[in-house]
Amino acid sequence: MTGSLTVIGLGPGDPRWLTPAATAALDAATDLVGYGPYVGRVAERAGLVRHASDNRVELDRARHALDLAAAGRAVAVVSGGDPGVFAMAAAVFEALEDARPEWASVDIRVEPGITAVLAAAAKLGAPLGGDFAVMSLSDNLKPWDVVTRRLEAALAADFVVALYNPISKARPWQLGEALKLAGRHRAADAPVAFARAIGRADEAIRVLPLAEAEMAATTADMATLVLIGASGTRTVGGADGRRFLYTPRSVGRMP
Ligand code: SAH
Repeated sequence: MTGSLTVIGLGPGDPRWLTPAATAALDAATDLVGYGPYVGRVAERAGLVRHASDNRVELDRARHALDLAAAGRAVAVVSGGDPGVFAMAAAVFEALEDARPEWASVDIRVEPGITAVLAAAAKLGAPLGGDFAVMSLSDNLKPWDVVTRRLEAALAADFVVALYNPISKARPWQLGEALKLAGRHRAADAPVAFARAIGRADEAIRVLPLAEAEMAATTADMATLVLIGASGTRTVGGADGRRFLYTPRSVGRMP
């Protein structure tokens, strides 16, 4: 008997940002596989077996999930945000390249979720109104010179640039370097947003001029999404002194 494997995006944290399709897929699961904190976000219920694991072993976790599905289980692999954005869906397909015969008939699906950059953008206003680029700043899975080359290209092309995985204990200086690089392509007062723990109880949002953001780089953490504005990105005032960050849809000549 062959089972199924659904890779599910749990969204950024607010349970109201879980899609009905993702909820239905979670309700149908017999087994839950994922990094501990994400597994912890799914309510316990009778008949649901939980397999929480350490974050560093994505491929092993994917193989384990495929084995469970091949044995007939209905497996839900969970990721925060969207499972296809720097997350488990790619690990599942990478594991599948091993082409083990017992995995051949597993029914694999991916259920999308709201990714961090979209949640952060909605809280900020509309910073993604123009073209934007999304990068992971982590050099765990790619060399740092690849990160800087891609970042330079995106900045030079005047994209709004969203940085996932901006900083961690093991990678303390990379965000500062990235923002220094941004200073070569953007004005000192270009807006930079630090959007932290969006959709969770400890949500915190700051918009700083680039020069100040560079000084504040080490105040970001692993739960922070960093957004560097394009040349047209700016703020506009709303009710109660609130300021919205937005990027106009139209672009003239590139600076
Ligand atoms: N699959 C996830 C991203 C995983 S990479 C998604 O689609 O959102 C992990 C990075 O995502 C974090 O370092 C942070 O940059 C960002 N992130 C995830 N959840 C977030 C949240 N609630 N608020 C802000 N950033 C978040």
